Order: sequence, then structure tokens, then C-alpha cells
Amino acid sequence: MSDRRLPVVFIGHGSPMNALEDNAWTRAWAQLGRELQRPRAILCLSAHYVTHGLKVVGQEQPETIHDFYGFPQSLYEVSYPAPGSPRLAGQVAALLADQGAQVSADWGLDHGAWSLLKVMYPAADIPVVQLSLDLTLDARAQITIGQALRPLRDEGIMLVGSGNVVHNLREIRPDQQQPFPWALAFGEAVHERVMSGHYEALAGYTALEGCMPSVNSGEHFVPLLNILGAATREDRPRAINHDYAWGSLSMSSYVLGA
Ligand code: ZN
Repeated sequence: MSDRRLPVVFIGHGSPMNALEDNAWTRAWAQLGRELQRPRAILCLSAHYVTHGLKVVGQEQPETIHDFYGFPQSLYEVSYPAPGSPRLAGQVAALLADQGAQVSADWGLDHGAWSLLKVMYPAADIPVVQLSLDLTLDARAQITIGQALRPLRDEGIMLVGSGNVVHNLREIRPDQQQPFPWALAFGEAVHERVMSGHYEALAGYTALEGCMPSVNSGEHFVPLLNILGAATREDRPRAINHDYAWGSLSMSSYVLGA
């Protein structure tokens, strides 16, 4: 096992159907799984696990949760049987003791985690632990959570944030080729700050043009703040899938430190 520092990753996950589809986005995810240093375990921060107070999934064998409605039966039959890691869950709770994080048995792996991990690591043989999002915390506190988790990177743990920089389901237009102006303004402002290493500037993301319609309730954006907190100035940023879908969704994904 190499003891090189693991990169941190934010994936724009989009539709749960990406778990089953072969498209440009999922091909880029699969490529990441092949080319990044293989992690000992994955800590995933998904937009779909929101709690009051931070929770860490502590099961030996987390169940696959199908947390969506109205999709084809084939999606409800997907199983991602990656093992959990109670040991890592305990370690995460300890690193986030100041934030009151607690190990919990009330969740498994939601589609924010498995829809992309199934593509990146189809063998499901790397342990996965999920950490929840607490949306009552401000942007600065979200970045601090990432900073607290940074030491895990030197222990073979890959931090994977799963959300979308721009995520407005109410405004989605299936036939829309171009992003709406507010989506483009916000998506590009975030992109510039990530790619120039100005992560701290994103603590003020609510002042960026187009923020309100792009971010909404915030759960799809917050994992990016967590992930950027775990990055350092030395981590070279790389964008994949820097792209928009259906007018109001950004698929932009970032790898830092690989
Ligand atoms: Zn989602």
C-alpha cells in the first residue's frame, strides 16, 4: 500500500440513472476509478444524507438505499454491496468531535454515494463510509469540517463529495441545450475559484451571481465546501465533466491533488 496522500474528489452526480447509463459523464467517472490511486476506504459526503448534527454510518455492511421515486424498476434493483468500516466511522467521529459527530446505524449507502461509486469502483470491494451533511452550519463551518478530515488522506482514505454545483430540479427543462444565464454565471464563478485555488473565497459563495436559484436548499452544493476544506494549496485542481444539463444542473466535477 502506497502511503501517498490520496486526492479529494467532488462529483456532480445528476440523475440516479447515471448508475446504469453509459454516457460521457459516467465514462469520465469510470476513468477516474481506473487512474486514481486505489484507496483503502472511501468516505463519501452525499447530498442525500442530511441530518441535524453530523452522523457517520457505522455498519459493517451498509444497505443500498433507493432514495428516489418514479424511476425504472431496474434502478430499484441495483445493489452496491461494498463493506462498511466501523473503524473508519469511529475515526471520522473522533476527528469531528468538536462538531458533535456521532456514529449512527440509521442509514446505509444512498444513491448519491452508490450511483457514482458503482461506476468508479464496480467491484464494490472498497469499504465505504458515509458522513452526513448538517445544513444548519454556515459555509465557513462546512469548510472546517473538510479541514478536520484532511489527515485521513494520508491514511489511504479517499474523500468523495457527491452533489451538484448547480442543482434546481424545479427549473429543469429536458430539451434545454444551454444552461440558463443564472446557472452559467454561478457555475462559472465557482469553477474559476476552484481552478485558481481560491477555495477560501467560496465561504462567501452566497454573494455570487445566480447563487439562489442555483443552490436552493444547499444540500447539493455543501459537499463541495467540505471537499475543498480537505484540499490544500499544493493540490492541483482538475476539472472533469465541466458541463451543464437541462438548463439548471451542472455536472462539473473536481479532483484535487492527483
Ligand atoms: Zn442528487
